[in-house]
Amino acid sequence: MKREKEFWFVVGSQFLYGNDVLDTIDKRAKEMAEWISDNELIPFPVVYKGTVKTVDEAVKIVKDANYQEDCLGLITWCHTFSPSKLWINALTALQKPYCHFATQYNEKIPDKEIDMDFMNLNQAAHGDREHGFIGARLRIPRKVIVGFWKNEKPLKELGKWMRAAYGVAECRNLKVCRFGDNMRDVAVTEGDKVETQIKFGWQVNTWAVGDLVKEMNNVSDEEIERQYKDYLSKYDVATDNEESIKYQAREEIAIKKILDRVGAKAFTNTFEDLYGMKQLPGLASQDLMAQGYGFGAEGDWKVSALTHVVKVMTEGMSGGTSMMEDYTYNLPVDEEYSLGAHMLEVCPSLAGDKPRIETHHLGIGMNEDDPARLVFEGKAGKATVASLIDMGGRMRLIVQDIEVVKPIYEMPNLPVARVMWKLKPDLPTAVKMWILCGGAHHTVLSYDADADMYEDFAEMMGIEFVHLNGDTDISDLKLQLMLSDFAWKLR
Ligand code: MN
Repeated sequence: MKREKEFWFVVGSQFLYGNDVLDTIDKRAKEMAEWISDNELIPFPVVYKGTVKTVDEAVKIVKDANYQEDCLGLITWCHTFSPSKLWINALTALQKPYCHFATQYNEKIPDKEIDMDFMNLNQAAHGDREHGFIGARLRIPRKVIVGFWKNEKPLKELGKWMRAAYGVAECRNLKVCRFGDNMRDVAVTEGDKVETQIKFGWQVNTWAVGDLVKEMNNVSDEEIERQYKDYLSKYDVATDNEESIKYQAREEIAIKKILDRVGAKAFTNTFEDLYGMKQLPGLASQDLMAQGYGFGAEGDWKVSALTHVVKVMTEGMSGGTSMMEDYTYNLPVDEEYSLGAHMLEVCPSLAGDKPRIETHHLGIGMNEDDPARLVFEGKAGKATVASLIDMGGRMRLIVQDIEVVKPIYEMPNLPVARVMWKLKPDLPTAVKMWILCGGAHHTVLSYDADADMYEDFAEMMGIEFVHLNGDTDISDLKLQLMLSDFAWKLR
C-alpha cells in the first residue's frame, strides 16, 4: 500500500568538495530514495528533493514542503559535512514533521579501496553530528534514526514515524461531531477544546440530538434494506428481533449522513441524551468504527478523535483498533486479567471470531427497545491501550503495553463484545502506574499502533508522553511525572 502522499528526502552537503562529488551524491540519493520507497516496511513514497548547499536552497525546499499538502514530512541526511548554519533559517521555518536519518551509503568500510577520495565523499559519521547539533540547539521536535539504509531496524523505525506523521496530517483537518454533551459530572472525558485545536488541529463541536433524529426520520426503507443486507453479509445474526437491527441501520445511515455532510471523521453520543431515539446506537457505532470513524461513548471526544487518528496511522495493517473501556478485573494471583468491554460499542476490527448480532435489554439510558449490538471475543496478541487526558495547561498521552489473551471464561450471559488482557509486570502494579498517571477508563486499544508510533506522534504534537510497560519503575515514573509538571509549567 503506497499512497499518494509522500515524504521528501533532502541531503546536506556544501560546495567544498567539487562537482564530481556532488554529482555522485545526487545519483546515490536518488537510488536510496527509490530503494527505500520500494521497501515493504515503508508505507509512503520517499522522494529525493535535492542536495542542499546554501541557505537559500534549504529555505526553498522547506517553504515548498510547508505549502504542499501531499508532503507529510522531511527526511534529511548529510552525505558529506554540511555546515549547519546553512540549515537554521530553513529548520526554524519548518512546519512539517522532521526526521534526521543518520545513515551511510556504504555498509562496510572498504578495506582495500579506502583512500582520501573515499574520505571526502563519505562523511556522514561526522556530517550527521553537525546536523544533529543544530536540531538540538533549535530544540525542534525531530526523529533521529541511525543505521544502514537497507537494514530492517532503521526502516521499521522510519515506517512507524511516517505513519505517525500521517496521523499528524489527518489531525489538521479532523472534525469531531458531538451529539449531546459529556456524561454529567465525569471529569476525565472533559478537556480544553481550544487548547486541543491549537495543539492537534481537532475541530470539536456539538450537533443537536434533535437534528440527528430528524435525519433518522428521513431515512428511506430502501436505504435501511441496503444497510440491513450489508450487516447480514458481514455478521452472523443471533436474534429474531429484525426490527431492532433495522433501527440500528436507520441510526447508522443518519449519523453517517451528518458526518459526511460536515466532513467529520469522528463522533460522540451519550446515553443521557437520546431524546426521540428508541435505542442507543450500538451496532451502528460499531459498524461505523469498522469503517474508520472515531467513536467516543458518554461524550468522550478525546477518545473518539484518537480512535480515528490511530485507525488512519495504522491503515492497511492487519490488527485492529477500537475505543475500549476497562470494565472489571480477575484478581487471583497468577491469574490476573483485565476485562475490557463497553455497554455496546467495541469495534469489530478487534474480533477473533465472526461477530454476531444480538439484541438485549439495556437498562442504562433511555432505551425503549433492546438495542442490537455485535458480540464477539477479541483476538489474542500484543497490543496497546492509550489514553489522552487534559492535565490543565497541557495534554498527556499515556500508552501501556498489553497482551490480549483468549478470554479465560465463556461468560455466556455477558451480552457485549469482550477483550481480555494481561499486564506487565503484573496487573496491580500496571494499574497502579496507570492511576498514578491519571489515565482514563476509556482508551484506544490497538493491535497495530505500538508505543514507538505513539511517542513519535506525541513529539510531533508537542504533548507529554508516558509509556508504561513491564520495565517501568514506579519511583522513576513518579519522578518523571513530577519533573514533567515543572517542565510543562515553564513552557
Ligand atoms: Mn464508558
